[in-house]
Amino acid sequence: MVVQSMTNTDTADVVKTADQVARLAEAGSELVRVTVNNEDAARAVPRIVERLDAMGVRTPLIGDFHYNGHILLTKYPECAAALAKYRINPGNVGARQYHDENFRAIIEQAIIHDKPVRIGVNWGSLDQRLLTEMMDENAKRPDPKDAKSVMLDAMVESALRSAAMAERFGLAHDKIVISAKLSQVNDLIRVYRTLAAACDYPLHLGLTEAGMGMKGIVASTAALAILLEEGIGDTIRVSLTPSPGGDRAEEVRVAQQILQSLGLRKFAPEVTSCPGCGRTTSTFFQQMAEKVQNHIHQRMPEWRRRFPGVEELKVAVMGCVVNGPGESKHADIGISLPGTFEEPKAPVFIDGKLVTTLRGEGIVEEFIRILDDYVQRRFGPVEASRSG
Ligand code: SF4
Repeated sequence: MVVQSMTNTDTADVVKTADQVARLAEAGSELVRVTVNNEDAARAVPRIVERLDAMGVRTPLIGDFHYNGHILLTKYPECAAALAKYRINPGNVGARQYHDENFRAIIEQAIIHDKPVRIGVNWGSLDQRLLTEMMDENAKRPDPKDAKSVMLDAMVESALRSAAMAERFGLAHDKIVISAKLSQVNDLIRVYRTLAAACDYPLHLGLTEAGMGMKGIVASTAALAILLEEGIGDTIRVSLTPSPGGDRAEEVRVAQQILQSLGLRKFAPEVTSCPGCGRTTSTFFQQMAEKVQNHIHQRMPEWRRRFPGVEELKVAVMGCVVNGPGESKHADIGISLPGTFEEPKAPVFIDGKLVTTLRGEGIVEEFIRILDDYVQRRFGPVEASRSG
């Protein structure tokens, strides 16, 4: 299950795009898509890859093509060669008589450069010729389906017909990935279930135009979790609209968290914290949970390099004695803070055993020091463990 993201810089701006790809890769994006929308962008692609190489970033780049992919890939073979995969949208390949010809030109470039192709259908740009054909057929049926059902059928049909056409034009079966994105959760689930039953191509999952902030995160999670739990999906992207000046890598972290919450991948240590209640009337507990979470987030780039397996770590920060000691014992390392009116002490548990009890000022700093020490001892090399 691979996490993908997409840049929102002007691809023609080599420095900005390479920097953003590097930031997405640093956050954990395993594939990054860039739009290749014009000649400047096509010329920039090999220079972006070169720059990333020089930065030590080897994350594969996917080129996103609409309308002019056949021209750009043919005219700029360095671009076609530098990309790791092409994404084409069958609804945006060309109008009527040009559609098949343009589609063939793209597939031929994929064959020449030995690249996989994602056939990415999107309901916002569904092949209108196909939709009209299917609407007409439906109207002749004795029991016609409603228009929405026909549209969903057309999404599946567009993806499968395009994949079959790519194979007819010579692209190997195992060089094809399919996606069919919609922005409504139930519709997306329905379409992907149908696709998964109808073919064995790898499927790229994503709720398109998921939206901003909490809405986008919750809707994407609701859709992807159901499909992933059914074993559907090979690559995923969370299409969040960033707030102005916001961090593009947020979509990577959300995708990782979805996979990690489902137990499909491990990316970072889990911090379990209770929601707090009337037993934790001060904000100390919330601040501590946040500080521990932030500390792990900041240390992860280094921990990932130095401490293989650290992403398996489970940390608990709990608000009071009711569930605190129990939850802390289930974690690798946990702390149970004193609730309101409890004795002001915070027992720390490591591997299920009480190891110390913290008191007074500096509980957070002391717990973070114990946490760092534990990470070093458990995940560090033997020499480091002995010396540390
Ligand atoms: S562990 Fe304690 S503070 Fe946290 S939710 Fe449960 S009862 Fe409330």
